[in-house]
Amino acid sequence: MTNGARIETFGCRLNSWESEVIREHTKQLGCDNMVVINTCAVTAEAEKQARQMIRKMRREDEDARIIVTGCAAQIDPQAWQAMPEVDAVIGNHEKLDAESWRKLATTNTPELPSLVGDIMTVRSVAPHMLAGFDHHSRAFLQIQQGCDHRCTFCIIPYGRGGSRSVSVADVVSQIRHLVAAGVAEVVLTGVDISSWGNDLALSDQAPPRLGQLVATILSAVPDLPRLRLSSLDPADIDADLRAVIADNPRFMPHLHLSIQHGDGLILKRMKRRHSPDDVMALVDDLRYRRPDIVFGADLIAGFPTEDDEAHHNSMRLLDQLNISWLHVFPFSPRQGTPAARMPQIKTEIIRSRAAEYRQLGHTLSQRQMDKMIGQDDEVVMETGGIAHTRQFGRVKMLTPDLAAGQLYPVRILRREGELLLAELRS
Ligand code: SF4
Repeated sequence: MTNGARIETFGCRLNSWESEVIREHTKQLGCDNMVVINTCAVTAEAEKQARQMIRKMRREDEDARIIVTGCAAQIDPQAWQAMPEVDAVIGNHEKLDAESWRKLATTNTPELPSLVGDIMTVRSVAPHMLAGFDHHSRAFLQIQQGCDHRCTFCIIPYGRGGSRSVSVADVVSQIRHLVAAGVAEVVLTGVDISSWGNDLALSDQAPPRLGQLVATILSAVPDLPRLRLSSLDPADIDADLRAVIADNPRFMPHLHLSIQHGDGLILKRMKRRHSPDDVMALVDDLRYRRPDIVFGADLIAGFPTEDDEAHHNSMRLLDQLNISWLHVFPFSPRQGTPAARMPQIKTEIIRSRAAEYRQLGHTLSQRQMDKMIGQDDEVVMETGGIAHTRQFGRVKMLTPDLAAGQLYPVRILRREGELLLAELRS
């Protein structure tokens, strides 16, 4: 077995998971002379970085076959194919198919075929049994793909297609496989995992919901130590999921919510399905059910038509919600989205509002970390002495020589900047 292609991944956890699938395909096929750029289309910055990486790869190796895939390639394949450094473009569905890589690996002509299908016609999501998760001690697992919503700022549905779910049986067997391979924490991921199951309804029954899947995983795989979810739509947290969060200690006390904004009018213009009061009620309910739960959130700064008042309403909501881990995205107009046609805000205002959010984010994360000092906890060891707690606090272990992927009982000693310092607890 060879090392397979060199893979450069941009964007989300789903892309990371898909890069693992590509890694396994290209290893099997001995595609050592290939460089795969798995792009992201969420921001213009992400696309710029992918183009820079492509030029760097070509400078480093003039003989490598450079293959571009991912959402940016799916949305505008011609634009990437037009780059002189690029040999071929593969679509988001085709990149998971071993046959695509076999075609590329066995094509001897200088011109490689581009393989980009119409993602909107894709109805299935093929499960892939990953052996493990290279360089990762926590395994991301795809349970859902695509999205049926149309938030006005978002280009993702055009790169990923409609929402489709992996079956319960495939998810459970993949997790058993990962646990048998020694994985201590699994993170369920997708594009819009809150809509998992919508396409799995049996004729006369209501479609299954994410909460049912999570409950089934935890009961069907009792030796899975830790289960975590990637981003969740706050408008769609079902009753079963709330019950699992409340009762099951193997469900990690941390939820990442794609809140995007805290002002009611802006949320309407984003075509989000929640209001600020809905988020407040959700967080209050989950904190009542699971007092040790902490929240992360995605936030967009500088959405078109946002004025000072709307921005401050948003900042105030985040502070009231006491969000611990904030991810801030400066608004980036994506061509083809309704928000790109709205009156735009000056770049310097977008930047200064993003900086205010980030400053608030530091205050909130330090507030959370200071509460964790002196506590006993459990971490999954990663690489470089770094680990994550159950509440997703980032920890630097002072105890040396701990094995990546292992679970360790720890005591949190103190905070240094954005890192907690901890030692092994006997
Ligand atoms: S829910 Fe909205 S933001 Fe999320 S992928 Fe779908 S359209 Fe984009």
